[in-house]
Amino acid sequence: MNLSSLNQDRLRTLSLLDRGPLANWIGGESVAPVGGRYSPVRDPAIELVVAEVADSDVADVALAVAAAQRAFQSAEWAGLRPADRERMLCRLADLIEAHGDELAALETLETGKPLSIARAIDVDAGAEHVRYMAGWATKIEGSTLASSIGGPPGVAYQTSTWREPVGVVAAIVPWNFPLAIALWKVAPALACGCTVVLKPAQETPLTALRLAELAQLAGLPAGVLNVVTGGPAAGAALVAHTGVRKISFTGSTAVGRSIGHSALDRMARFSLELGGKSPLIILDDMDPWRAAQGAAMGIFFNQGQVCTAGSRVYVQRRHYGAVVEALGTLAGQMKLGSGFDPETQIGPLISARHLQRVQAHVAQACEEGAQLVAGGQRGRDSGFFMQPTVFANTHAGMHIVREEVFGPVVCVMPFDTVDEAVSLANASDYGLAASVWSNDLSLVHRVVPRLQAGIVWVNTHNMLDNNLPFGGVKQSGYGRDLGRSAIEQFTELKSVCIAY
Ligand code: NAD
Repeated sequence: MNLSSLNQDRLRTLSLLDRGPLANWIGGESVAPVGGRYSPVRDPAIELVVAEVADSDVADVALAVAAAQRAFQSAEWAGLRPADRERMLCRLADLIEAHGDELAALETLETGKPLSIARAIDVDAGAEHVRYMAGWATKIEGSTLASSIGGPPGVAYQTSTWREPVGVVAAIVPWNFPLAIALWKVAPALACGCTVVLKPAQETPLTALRLAELAQLAGLPAGVLNVVTGGPAAGAALVAHTGVRKISFTGSTAVGRSIGHSALDRMARFSLELGGKSPLIILDDMDPWRAAQGAAMGIFFNQGQVCTAGSRVYVQRRHYGAVVEALGTLAGQMKLGSGFDPETQIGPLISARHLQRVQAHVAQACEEGAQLVAGGQRGRDSGFFMQPTVFANTHAGMHIVREEVFGPVVCVMPFDTVDEAVSLANASDYGLAASVWSNDLSLVHRVVPRLQAGIVWVNTHNMLDNNLPFGGVKQSGYGRDLGRSAIEQFTELKSVCIAY
């Protein structure tokens, strides 16, 4: 392993990498993959293998689900008071923060993202999310309902609803915010009293494995949080396992759709956070430079590998030229480099395969007549870097405007009327997020309800809050993460009727 180009201070904290091939975490201990196969994890900035992890299959998944089923029934977990679960989750949040340097370094190593983003989003916001969900453990409630049941004389009825943990949860997550998205699923599931088998993306398994160890240190009983690493085969085995009662998935629309079908076959619960092609609408009362800065953050953050990335920018005609020019300038100024370099704004894409995918989108856009304003090339000779790329003269018929690129590529298009902007913004199979940029309060209030999106921002983009539900409409998903909605996703409603 050649780690010479990495920041040595950070590397000293990565004890995980000194252990040799990394096994699954099942039932509170490391368990080697049954088939004995391991697969490499690469640092996308230098293209070199930095770790090897279990390449799990059906047999490993069966072990993990069995451990989670045992833990779900166990007195050590099922017998806990909600306040005990709350305390354990708070301890886990503290441990995530205490190991923040190490976790952020692991995240930068496996994703390539700037260390400051790994620290702020995956680690610190992740820990805050765990603490937020810890608070919910003691606030889960049902209702006492008015009953009109007519019974024999002298008999009355009391009706109520209870919320109970759904059971064993499969949490299947992608590679763009590996720790944060894992915590979005693990924390509410545990707050509700479920047990979990977490399957990280094959590109980014390291923080999930460390999370499981920290959960044990926090006092979570063995088998409550299990981690199986591997690719689609491991994910598919989890989805198909009859012991899994709920699948919480974040990833591509194609895989999400197949998971939904499979889950429905056996009536397992599922929630799907999927892809997006999110529009920004910039109205002509905005300062074009400020709007362009917002649009640059909206698309280039995390190398554009963000499900809510603002990849379609619609600008009212008066400012169109100014916004295109400003976005091109901002894109050209961004510093590409190792995520461990504090100057770096844009790290590499996740893999060679993904870089090729993004380059193919860019080539096709050029062939279809899009005007390249900035970028368009591979960012460096080594590492999977892509230049921040801005296209003008695009239109709704082009692939680049319709398909999710999941990279630092934005299309800027003009519009004349607000009606036109709304109809262009909604002309997408996706409906994850949208943003409106204007200080005209009255106009904003008229536009927001007309946008087909699960999340609408005004004068900002990509801003999340633990209390604000997160998810999409149309092809962007089914169900919501975060907030009270997450608690509802990991509990079943039981209706109880007592005659007395
Ligand atoms: P992906 O769908 O290829 O993989 C996601 C996860 O599913 C990985 O862990 C993968 O191993 C697993 N998987 C793959 N095939 C599977 C199968 N047949 N059965 C079960 N599991 C399977 O997605 P990706 O390329 O890792 O992530 C990028 C996608 O995720 C983008 O489309 C992006 O928009 C989306 N995403 C959505 C959100 C959101 O909250 N809406 C957040 C982040 C990413």
